[in-house]
Amino acid sequence: VSGGDPNWKIDCLDHGYVRLVDSMGDDLSIVRAARVSYDAAWRTGTDEGSDHKLINSLMRRGHTSPFEAVEFQFEVMAPIFVLRQWHRHRTWAYNELSGRYRELPDVYYVPRPQDIGVQSKTSKQARAFDVEHMPDIDTKVMAAAMGASFEIYRMLLAQQVPKELARIVLPLATYSHMFAKVDLHNLFHFLKLRLHEHAQYEIREYGLAILDLIQLVVPTAVSAWLDQDGMRENVLKLRRKKDDGA
Ligand SMILES: Cc1cc2nc3c(=O)[nH]c(=O)nc-3n(C[C@H](O)[C@H](O)[C@H](O)COP(=O)(O)OP(=O)(O)OC[C@H]3O[C@@H](n4cnc5c(N)ncnc54)[C@H](O)[C@@H]3O)c2cc1C
Repeated sequence: VSGGDPNWKIDCLDHGYVRLVDSMGDDLSIVRAARVSYDAAWRTGTDEGSDHKLINSLMRRGHTSPFEAVEFQFEVMAPIFVLRQWHRHRTWAYNELSGRYRELPDVYYVPRPQDIGVQSKTSKQARAFDVEHMPDIDTKVMAAAMGASFEIYRMLLAQQVPKELARIVLPLATYSHMFAKVDLHNLFHFLKLRLHEHAQYEIREYGLAILDLIQLVVPTAVSAWLDQDGMRENVLKLRRKKDDGA
């Protein structure tokens, strides 16, 4: 992977993206790390079938540390409310754009009408789509509120209000920008939680993009992970939902 290569970038939501900036290791690194247990690390790569079998077996048995041999660094552009959920994952290392240092760009997330749904009656934190009469939400109202916040923000800056305080009028939908590093074991944990159907649609978008990116680096490990707990069916379902609405 070479940093900045557009082929390693996937667009998410209306203005966001994930880019795989850098990675260390691949499927062979996992096998090598596992085989050091019996001092056969360098036998790795001589028999592809046995390497694949070993990765599948490690995944099934929950022998997780060999997956930590692979690391990724991503560049992420996402709304603040998505990054807030992301930052709960303490096993990542983050560096983020600072609204104290620079004026925040006038970029915010406005959901597609088909992704809005209604407040779920069965889950306090979810949205539902299985109602008879879906209300007709005018997303222009949301966009107008966010646009107005940015206008006030710029007005405050023009009045010499410090950036670190002027920003507090901005919405959670404001896009922010971070670099984030994680190893494959902890990334699988993140994906398991954030590709769950109970996770919020907007962060699931980023999870799906990450899955596509890492599949190019560790195809056997991703396939072994997808074989766990109905994950492959879950991911297929999420991809269909993405096309039809959240
Ligand atoms: C659908 C969903 C709904 C959620 N709703 C809420 C909510 O309403 N309110 C809220 O506050 N959060 C909520 N969360 C966040 C959730 O509680 C976790 O904080 C978040 O998912 C990170 O998970 P984690 O701790 O397993 O991940 P990581 O921080 O990446 O940790 C990975 C693993 O490392 C271990 N670990 C890491 N740090 C420690 C530690 N200090 N001590 C012990 N073990 C550790 C644990 O085994 C952990 O599972 C929600 C998450 C999801 C997916």
